Amino acid sequence: MSEPGSGASEGAADAWVAFGATDLGLVRERNEDAFAVDQKIGCYLVADGLGGQPGGDVASRLARDAVRGALRRQRRALAAGDVEGVLEGAVRAAHRRIRRIGRDDPALARMATTLSVLWLGGAGRGCAAHVGDSRIYRLDRRGLVQLTEDHSMAMEMVRSGTITLEEAMESVAWDFLTRTVGVADEVAVDGFAVETAGAEAFLVCSDGLTGMVDDGEIARLLRAHAPDPEAACAALIEAALSGGGLDNVTVVVVYPRGK
Ligand code: CA
Repeated sequence: MSEPGSGASEGAADAWVAFGATDLGLVRERNEDAFAVDQKIGCYLVADGLGGQPGGDVASRLARDAVRGALRRQRRALAAGDVEGVLEGAVRAAHRRIRRIGRDDPALARMATTLSVLWLGGAGRGCAAHVGDSRIYRLDRRGLVQLTEDHSMAMEMVRSGTITLEEAMESVAWDFLTRTVGVADEVAVDGFAVETAGAEAFLVCSDGLTGMVDDGEIARLLRAHAPDPEAACAALIEAALSGGGLDNVTVVVVYPRGK
């Protein structure tokens, strides 16, 4: 499944070209990832529904639709400048919606998802909101920089100095998330401004990509296919499948529009 960026003529569409795609992978029976590329509101997001719980696919789609709906309703606030507040509010709205539906349907009571939302407007404005271990990257002349923190047990231990990154990658704690959208009463959302000047590309992706393909190869593929986001998405998914395809893989690629 893939979704081209629309040709809407507002700020985001003037400044950026974008494409998103998702693939089941080679092992999983269901695709529990969801994504959105919405140029009208400048929204690029990936949600990865938690496996091992019923309703991971339901949670990721609910999150996607809730965020898109909230941003569409608040286009005026976005234009006025309170982007961080609007994005965080949209993620909280997704959290409440997943919890409400989970309360009404015991089979979905523990459904949850990651959610990484990148917002890019015209005029160099950018912002992000993030929960979980999907990732947002920025590529520039220094290379590929991960803008989000992974909210996993293992990475919390790396940040606190308890274990090294190498130990973390071998750890069983790698897959345990410390924060998700859904399940808990409250959700803590990371919200931050995103620098757009000098960016060669942005990538929003699920761990089905980053678990299979290293950062150097991701950067190489993003550069090789610039400025064609559809070709970049296809190449990244191909690389994840060649690397084992052990998980659903979802990628959203955004390039600055050529002048
Ligand atoms: Ca995943």
